[in-house]
Amino acid sequence: MTLGDINEIMKHKRAIIIGVVLKQESIAKLQPIVTKAKSLAVSKAEVLTLDNCFQAFVREEHLSGSDQWFCPKCKEHRDILKKLEIYKLPKVLILQLKRFCNKKSHNSGSSSYFQMAYSQIAGQEKIGSKVDFPITNLDMRQYIVGPESKSPEPIFYDLYGISNHMGGLHGGHYTAYAYNHVHQSWMDYNDSYAGKTSVDNIVTNSAYILFYRRRD
Ligand SMILES: [Zn+2]
Repeated sequence: MTLGDINEIMKHKRAIIIGVVLKQESIAKLQPIVTKAKSLAVSKAEVLTLDNCFQAFVREEHLSGSDQWFCPKCKEHRDILKKLEIYKLPKVLILQLKRFCNKKSHNSGSSSYFQMAYSQIAGQEKIGSKVDFPITNLDMRQYIVGPESKSPEPIFYDLYGISNHMGGLHGGHYTAYAYNHVHQSWMDYNDSYAGKTSVDNIVTNSAYILFYRRRD
């Protein structure tokens, strides 16, 4: 494969895996193109579990410096410990995996809407880690603090849909997997394409939003 061949491929495809051994001088010439292809390939070897995500969600956060909380009683900014907890469980549970995070330390205390909107295009990066999530039997009882946390039975949720995001921040694509009760099969929806897929294919590092339904 010559440099000309690769340039021809790159014109038509935005990301390819270049599986050829390149000579040193060719690599130097190819640098801008190779970098572009790499930036779209977000896969990382790291695999997390949904449980890891829930543990991180409820972890105490120490807010200080520019993240200080403004106390309405003292009318002063103060260092605080912030902790999120889930009190009550819904019928339908929609989990958004935070794949887009600020590169710079975010300023939750005084950031304006404009800064937030701006950071969505300028200061963010995508996390491509695979998150291993259960298809059935997600027991939410362990993650809540309200009265139902004392339920003697597990509180099970089953997955019925996944919104996938592939690509990077500046050229992404969305697809969906959803369970079809008529066909009793998982379906793959990608633009004009709709077809059956296997449950074994649906847990990927593109998963972005997970739709769970509480089992009656
Ligand atoms: Zn105060």
